[in-house]
Amino acid sequence: MRPGASSLGALSVPLEKRLSVSHHFFMDDLDFLRKAIALAEEHSLSSTAGPFGALIVRNGEVVGEGWNRVVEKRDPTAHAEILAIREAANHIGTHVLEDTVLYSSCEPCPMCLAAIYWARIPRVVFATDAEDARAIGFDDALIAQELVLPWEARSIQSSQALRDEGKEIMEKWKRKPDRTEY
Ligand SMILES: [Zn+2]
Repeated sequence: MRPGASSLGALSVPLEKRLSVSHHFFMDDLDFLRKAIALAEEHSLSSTAGPFGALIVRNGEVVGEGWNRVVEKRDPTAHAEILAIREAANHIGTHVLEDTVLYSSCEPCPMCLAAIYWARIPRVVFATDAEDARAIGFDDALIAQELVLPWEARSIQSSQALRDEGKEIMEKWKRKPDRTEY
């Protein structure tokens, strides 16, 4: 079975059932969430970091942490959750984080949420939400709106060409007997 196949199955739990458990907390949740908030506070008050922190926990142990380092690293993708995912994957030694929980001081933005899906992280606990972030100038509503549009309708100008040439490489890879699917 492909590494992600089983966890994608888990994500197909009916929405009704998912909603019914979305406010269920475990004993340690608030402790870990406070640690994520503390990371946000510690770094944003002492450096150029934005006020966001995140932790990844596996079997009760912190395996990755991150805080917003976009300005410091001159990296627009250096959000707290992305850095925590990179550290956790490195620490655990796999790109599949299906037995972890992500704690974030703020609801993940669309980029981080997509990374959470790619990482197969099945559970996220957060403190502030997108509306709170918007109130201090971090507005990701446009990205969320654009994501559901077909690419031709998005504000980023996109053009498609050379599809057959690109596809040839894909098919070659698909025929490669020693390929690693993920
Ligand atoms: Zn983000």
